[in-house]
Amino acid sequence: MNKLCRSTDAIEAQGIIDFLEANNIECQLMNNFLSGALGDIPFTDTGPEIWVSNETDLILAKQLLHQYFQTQKLNEINQDKTRLCPHCQETNPAHFATCWSCQKDI
Ligand SMILES: [Zn+2]
Repeated sequence: MNKLCRSTDAIEAQGIIDFLEANNIECQLMNNFLSGALGDIPFTDTGPEIWVSNETDLILAKQLLHQYFQTQKLNEINQDKTRLCPHCQETNPAHFATCWSCQKDI
């Protein structure tokens, strides 16, 4: 199992999983229960995480995620719901606390 990214939104995380599984990437939602602990542990340590089952799928999963967020960006370009990672310049949903691509805080 390899961590792909963390979202703060379980619905969005499920949307990403549905997208990846539609592209034959086996993945799982982890850590979903921890959102109930928000306030007790740092914000960036909570929230659902998406893990890819097979390490060999990880690169393809990242490419698909890039494609997924590019589509989101086009859909939401006038709604200010995306932001660029200052570290790697990837597009992230505005509510992401950690970049899905480079895993750094944004
Ligand atoms: Zn980044």
